[in-house]
Amino acid sequence: MIRQYSDTNPWKIIEKSFDAKRVKSSESIFSIGNGYMGQRANFEEDYSGETFQGSYIGGVYYPDKTKVGWWKNGYPEYFAKVLNAPNWIGIHIKVNKETLDLNKIRVSYFQRELDMKKGVYTRKFKATLKNGIEILVEVIRFISIEEDSLGAIQYKITSLNSQCDLLIEPYIDSGIINQDSNWDDAFWKNKNLVSNDFFSGIISQTNKTKFEVCTYMSNKLFYENKKINTSSILKNNSENKLSELFNVKIQKGKTLKLIKIGGYVRKKLNNQRNLFEVTEEIVKRFINIDFDKLLNSQIKGWKKIWDVSDIKIEGDLSSQQGIRFNIFQLNQTYSGRNPELNIGPKGFTGEKYGGSTYWDTEAYCLPFYMFTKDQFVSKNLLKYRYLQLNKAIENAKKLGFDKGAALFPMVTMNGEECHNEWEITFEEIHRNGAIAYAIYNYTRYTGDDNYLKEMGLEVLIAISRFWSQRFSFSSDKKKYVMLGVTGPNEYENNVNNNWYTNYIAKWCLTYTKDQIKKLENFFPEDFLKISKKINWNRNELILWEDIIQNTYFPSSNKKNIFIQQDGFLDKELNSVNKLDESSRPINQKWSWDRILRSVYIKQADVLQGFYFFPENFTKVELEENYKFYEPFTVHESSLSPSIHAILACRIGLIDDAYKFHIQTSRLDLDDYNMEVEEGLHITSMAGSWISIVEGFCGMQIINDSLSFKNRLPKKWKSVKFKINFRGSILEVNMFKNKNNFIWEGESKINIISDGKIITL
Ligand code: BGC
Repeated sequence: MIRQYSDTNPWKIIEKSFDAKRVKSSESIFSIGNGYMGQRANFEEDYSGETFQGSYIGGVYYPDKTKVGWWKNGYPEYFAKVLNAPNWIGIHIKVNKETLDLNKIRVSYFQRELDMKKGVYTRKFKATLKNGIEILVEVIRFISIEEDSLGAIQYKITSLNSQCDLLIEPYIDSGIINQDSNWDDAFWKNKNLVSNDFFSGIISQTNKTKFEVCTYMSNKLFYENKKINTSSILKNNSENKLSELFNVKIQKGKTLKLIKIGGYVRKKLNNQRNLFEVTEEIVKRFINIDFDKLLNSQIKGWKKIWDVSDIKIEGDLSSQQGIRFNIFQLNQTYSGRNPELNIGPKGFTGEKYGGSTYWDTEAYCLPFYMFTKDQFVSKNLLKYRYLQLNKAIENAKKLGFDKGAALFPMVTMNGEECHNEWEITFEEIHRNGAIAYAIYNYTRYTGDDNYLKEMGLEVLIAISRFWSQRFSFSSDKKKYVMLGVTGPNEYENNVNNNWYTNYIAKWCLTYTKDQIKKLENFFPEDFLKISKKINWNRNELILWEDIIQNTYFPSSNKKNIFIQQDGFLDKELNSVNKLDESSRPINQKWSWDRILRSVYIKQADVLQGFYFFPENFTKVELEENYKFYEPFTVHESSLSPSIHAILACRIGLIDDAYKFHIQTSRLDLDDYNMEVEEGLHITSMAGSWISIVEGFCGMQIINDSLSFKNRLPKKWKSVKFKINFRGSILEVNMFKNKNNFIWEGESKINIISDGKIITL
């Protein structure tokens, strides 16, 4: 079901009326952020209707003690949650003593816009208070894309029908709680309320993890554009709140303007400097800059981002808006500047999934950042896992593996596992494969061989050690089998020989073995150093080789496909189109037990393998498997449709591919899953990007050359985008039946365009 209520526009998201029932959904859709911090589009002024207050700081989390019905050995002690952080945007407003609250007054006009080109969120409304005063409010807000700690608000109030007394009270409030706290723990503790001539701030610390953050604000007031020096009163309302009070009388038709800058300054680890001083230094840099100038640098900052990452689609406004919304949100979530940060499935737009890192990063997000940013960004994504390797080794040890085997967590903040459903925590181990695959993807596209000797090989060997211990030898089958796993399809658990998991595990062993050989030959000294560090023993290869030669894959004499897991063909093979609409989505309508026994597939599983390794399968194999699995797939993970879009393109089913693509790229804008109010699906947005670049435009690397295939959907007249390939930009223009490329690199390059080699 689709719930579109914003206008279709190439660069903007526009909502044109006020509806209290949509406030939470819009708070998600109009979210803003800069990779360091981000927030939902909550109103600045009071609002007594239903709202979900949310503001987050990358990497600042709280270990919430695990809550489960039945404890299992090996469960993590806690679930790390990204914290709902203090509110810095708040402004209480009273007009002739009546509180401005859109839930309680008549709103005659309301419009909000997210201008994605400029990175600016605006809101404008006209309302009449109960006391008869009609006001016009115009708000501009942004979070600086270039300055981590800077957010800015321009809040203008015009009295339309009478003079009035305004009480304006910008505040910061650290009395915020997470909606999803397990035991109602207090996550934050206030240390200090601080203020001087430049700013006011609350220094708070997270309990247990001891992250220290100064939430600050600095306010200026203008009457008819002239700065006024009305004295303000600093109020310390409670130990959680600090506000500044301004009383101003305004004449009919005149405008009062408040400029509030604010945000968070996080104390760096091992930096002993006083956080108050650090914040003062940062605030002083911005405080005397005009709001319009700050706004201009924001627009310039976003221009730089769009110059490389935009995808321009002619002929289809709905796709155009969808993909720009996705690109915009991906850029707001991760900047790549800090290797300790990552991409949470909901980014800074909600709490579900704890803002933590999932396999989504490696399997879905890496290509977007690798091709639209400088190389260090994707390298930092890989480095994130390298920095957590020791914890992954500890994690595997807890489960009974040894000799340096690593199992990266299903969900993590700091490298420790913080997921606690045994069938996923212990069994959804294919995530290890995606991490190895990302190393392969990164090195083959960037050509950065150094990565392997600097970090990659250690990760690969640790992952392969895990696989070699996780397979067991079946003397009945005379093959290596993998028992008790959950594949990407979480709608069946604890199955034996999930085809995808066995495939990626075997691939990891083979790939690691090849990389070892490469390093031994080309960088023997580095290899020696690594070998010593991780106690590498060549004899480990004997078992690896045996597994590679004798991996078991479930198969059937009757069906010419790869079987998803040992018992898959015993299920009742009824396709999704036989399901009654009232049973969808099955994860909300059916018991879990019924889902697990059903044939329905949550997301690409066998087909995920076809997406990763196109060169390893024939077109007929792809067609047969797609034809078999697609009808059983309910796509109840937002990650699913993009993979099916790409495979449908490879087969030539372009209309189907288009349908899947729209389902991903407009998932949140049109609220397909009726849950956008919980937050946006950030990681699946990267899926929209790959479904265009790797799907409709067929980008692949073949024998070290970039290759493209033109398979544009009917509606599209053309598509244009840029790729950062090995440090230079390649511009790709695809029209119906024609491709143009512009290569900005200094030396020539061969690429493959619809099967023909061309030199640029
Ligand atoms: C999917 C996982 C994914 C997670 C976070 C789940 O619904 O099944 O594959 O990692 O969401 O996006």
